[in-house]
Amino acid sequence: MKAETRVPLSRPYIGEREEEAVLDVLRSGRLSLGPTIERFEELFAEQVGAPYAAAVSSGTAGLHMLCHIAGVEDGDEVITSPLSFVATANCFILEGGRPVFADVDAQTLNLDPEAVEAAITERTKGIVAVDMFGFPCELDELRAIAERHGLWIIDDSCEALGAEYKGRQIGSQGISGAFGFYPNKQITTGEGGMVTTHSEEEWELLKSLRNQGRSYESRWFHHVRLGFNYRFTDLQAALGIVQLEKLDEILRLRSEAAARYGDLLASLEGIETPHQDDADHKRSWFVYVTKLAPARDRETVLASLAGEGIEAAHYVPCVHLQPYMRERYGFAEGVCPVAEDASDRSLALPFFTGIEAAEQELVVDALSRVIAR
Ligand SMILES: *Cc1c(COP(=O)(O)O)cnc(C)c1O
Repeated sequence: MKAETRVPLSRPYIGEREEEAVLDVLRSGRLSLGPTIERFEELFAEQVGAPYAAAVSSGTAGLHMLCHIAGVEDGDEVITSPLSFVATANCFILEGGRPVFADVDAQTLNLDPEAVEAAITERTKGIVAVDMFGFPCELDELRAIAERHGLWIIDDSCEALGAEYKGRQIGSQGISGAFGFYPNKQITTGEGGMVTTHSEEEWELLKSLRNQGRSYESRWFHHVRLGFNYRFTDLQAALGIVQLEKLDEILRLRSEAAARYGDLLASLEGIETPHQDDADHKRSWFVYVTKLAPARDRETVLASLAGEGIEAAHYVPCVHLQPYMRERYGFAEGVCPVAEDASDRSLALPFFTGIEAAEQELVVDALSRVIAR
């Protein structure tokens, strides 16, 4: 029998101001393609330090359009991380690209630049990097590799709003990237995403592509290219604006909660806490993923926690080992041993903005009982 949930894995942080803002838009009659979207885009661009931002229907939609603009063609190889959400690879597979998975660094869990360089062939056209679990990836090294080999590069920043690389926000580095607003992200709009770019031309293209290739100089039904319906709505934008206003508070609460887990877990044997920040990398806390000692049976741990009403999770299974990936490309265990080991031992604990100390203590108490067994 499933116990009643006492501590969920994730929970959005929504208040009355969000409700009012959404109601205002509902009553305004401008539900899509309206001024609230433009306002959210301006505020978001300013927040991350990118000159241009385009709101889209999801983080995946944003990444997909960036791969479309990069000009991915059938059979092009694109290098990406196996330790990510499937969108990081799907965005170019949808355009005909072929995934090549380079292994990650055992500490940061982001693409290892040396592994990326070693994976380059004459068919390689691009790199989709990812700031996994909100920890900035090695953007300068990856960009240097891309430049050396004439490759395009995109940053999947969907988990990293508020993270900083070399003292500057993710999004400000000059590389095009996408952010996501699903309810477990730092800020949410229910569904939604934002592409940031440093090119005005790319920005115009994104706004056209998200709206069926519509031209903006001219008449309403005038379509100058093949596009998508990846539009955002003003209702979502209203939610996003209020969430963005709270971003500093959200990031602070999340980092305080992470620090609290660090303290509570310090005395537990056989549980590794997440990699620490350093001078060049400041994490924006997205999830709290621990690593179990190799001998631990994760299924037992998950089942015991679930028995106490605590939602924990395997976070995340490797992308190349997903059933559709094995089937399409024949990937198997052993392709990326570092990522596979990290994935096999991963245990995400309940983590969200506003998680209470008492909830975190429940989690760690339950965990310490399983581990002592
Ligand atoms: C959330 C996320 C996305 C985008 O997800 P959507 O559900 O499409 O908004 C992409 N990549 C990573 C790594 C993510 O965590």
